[in-house]
Amino acid sequence: MQSQRSRKRPSTVLYRSLIGALIAAGLVGCTADPVEAIFPQGEQGAAELFTGKAWNYGLVGNDSIFTTLVGNVYFEPGARSNWHTHPAGQILIITDGVGYHQIEGRPIEVIRKGDVVKCPPNVRHWHGASADVGLQQLYIVPNTERGIVNWEGPVSDAEYTNQ
Ligand code: MN
Repeated sequence: MQSQRSRKRPSTVLYRSLIGALIAAGLVGCTADPVEAIFPQGEQGAAELFTGKAWNYGLVGNDSIFTTLVGNVYFEPGARSNWHTHPAGQILIITDGVGYHQIEGRPIEVIRKGDVVKCPPNVRHWHGASADVGLQQLYIVPNTERGIVNWEGPVSDAEYTNQ
């Protein structure tokens, strides 16, 4: 009896630790980013245009009849675009998560699921995810005959955290 119990105890402890470790590992995987996707993740944005990982999935291609570009970007937590302008402006529709949008010279705006943001033409701005939760955003770029986007430099960590 005594020897059975003493054999049992360490193995129970070991078993519980193992389960605990598996749960912890599982939780890390599941809670990394709770945002839900409507569209496929798409292609990863170029490292020279985004800090962190952003994924673009095109929904409406640009053409001469609609002259409108529509797509979805998923920003992983901490990811953001470079500073940029849109010659004819841009509309963002946030479908999940939490992120930031900043027009140069103004405070960072927190954007969440259900928010609609208009970025006026030729205004320097950036957008991206919050540090802890990703962002799913639909973008609409109208009047593409005037241009789509002019990219500038990265948003520094100091700019990103200046809230
Ligand atoms: Mn933009």
